[in-house]
Amino acid sequence: MENDYDGGAAMSTDTFPVRGLEPINCEPWCEARDGHPDQRLPEDQCCVGPEHRVPLLHEPTEPFGEASTEQQYLNTYLMRPAGDPAARVFIGYNEAPGRPATSDEARRFALQILALVDELEASPVGVFPRLHTESIGQQPAPRV
Ligand SMILES: [Zn+2]
Repeated sequence: MENDYDGGAAMSTDTFPVRGLEPINCEPWCEARDGHPDQRLPEDQCCVGPEHRVPLLHEPTEPFGEASTEQQYLNTYLMRPAGDPAARVFIGYNEAPGRPATSDEARRFALQILALVDELEASPVGVFPRLHTESIGQQPAPRV
């Protein structure tokens, strides 16, 4: 996990004469906090907070670059897409493109995960009780 939080010291653009964009108002959790003036396109002026990764230790490593591998992971961080008045919670997997969720969607997803974990851990054999109940009372439909 990388955190380049610099305590609010804005990056200087005095060194390079950059024809930058008008800086945006960054979110308090934005790692850049400089208004993203060095982006080439307004849609690239996106606030991004510190990333939180959970390594998937039971998954195989995946090729990363040309000569190394990386442990697979889930990740999440706060983001505010350019032009979007509302911040989102990014939910991702490895380097694959993830999706930004609203705070309500992220909360519902997190609660569903917690409910599943609770259900799994409450089961004595690691089998979902719901699946066990369904298998008792139903006969398989005959194949036609
Ligand atoms: Zn920002």
